[in-house]
Amino acid sequence: MLNKMTTDKRVRFKSTPTKDEFIKVLRQRVNEYFEPNNITQYANGEMVFKTIFAIVAWLGFYSLIISDVLSGSAWLLMLGFLMLGFVNIFIAFNIMHDATHEAYSSNKKINNILGYSMNFIGANQYLFRRMHGAHHGYVNIYGIDVTLEAHGLFRFTPDEPYKPYHRWQHIYTFILYAFAMLQWVVMKDFKWFFGESHIGNQKNIKHPFSEYVILLISKAFYFGTTLALPLMLLSAPAWLIVLSWIGMHLLPGLTFVLIFQVTHVYDGTAYPLPDKDGNIDNNYALHVLDTTADFSRHNRLGSWLMGGINIHVIHHIFPTVCHVHYPALTKILKQVADEFGIVYQENPNFWVALKKHYQILKHLSKPDAEVQRYGASAAIG
Ligand SMILES: [Zn+2]
Repeated sequence: MLNKMTTDKRVRFKSTPTKDEFIKVLRQRVNEYFEPNNITQYANGEMVFKTIFAIVAWLGFYSLIISDVLSGSAWLLMLGFLMLGFVNIFIAFNIMHDATHEAYSSNKKINNILGYSMNFIGANQYLFRRMHGAHHGYVNIYGIDVTLEAHGLFRFTPDEPYKPYHRWQHIYTFILYAFAMLQWVVMKDFKWFFGESHIGNQKNIKHPFSEYVILLISKAFYFGTTLALPLMLLSAPAWLIVLSWIGMHLLPGLTFVLIFQVTHVYDGTAYPLPDKDGNIDNNYALHVLDTTADFSRHNRLGSWLMGGINIHVIHHIFPTVCHVHYPALTKILKQVADEFGIVYQENPNFWVALKKHYQILKHLSKPDAEVQRYGASAAIG
């Protein structure tokens, strides 16, 4: 029996040999891709190029802003900040995400250094690693997957207690999404460091003192470089600089959240719950296939810009593989899924995925909305 009250138990995936067969075969095929071809699972030349591209793009837009050449036109200055915001999410998707998954390099030090790109763009590597980890292992499981946690604002899962205002969530959610990145850099990290002691179902968390120091130094660096320095050096009025700075987080923030949200919260996803002993009756890879959908897999430019976040199923199954390998590995995944008669979910483009996200938000805006607990993989014994 499913139990909504077991979230403080250690949740495990309790599979069967038949269910385990899929991941065994998939793992074998993936190894056959890497080993004989002498390809490592980590970064390749393309990733190094991407990293240099990100640094050059950031320095380019920042130089344009700080050299005061854009200040003559309010629109140009706002555009300069906006582009810096987009470069920041490019860094998050393409470098930080791989580094914090230990997928960029086999060298932990390199991953750690590149992971600090999260601090560079205003957030916090340490907290991201912990929170993203709680999401990764437990996709769409209420009480553990922190990405479902919305402090009552949104109802991303039917297990979230219903509030009367949720009836409009398919409208207001998209407006609030635009403020997510601003909220992240200004409030979220501070809130989780100073005001909360849990992450998912882990309670009484104590963060190391050094992480508080790193948090404060890197926040000072972010606000210093992106806001204080422009306020000191630019000839543009202060209100315009502050407005541009806020704007730099809005559209990129909306883009960031939507790209991520449509991969797990959509019409057709599953919301498994553990039983009273904390067991999820599935194999993790099949759980991912039930709760995750790719989009725009064949859009090469889109996938390049999004750091493969859109090719999300394979990322959850092999999180320590660098995203440059996702297209090739997803072909293998699809093949193996077909052989096993398992459904691999994908949307041809972002707009189809967005429509399904809207549909589930609308569906969950009703208090008695029913959802599937296990997806297509339930058919496997
Ligand atoms: Zn991830």
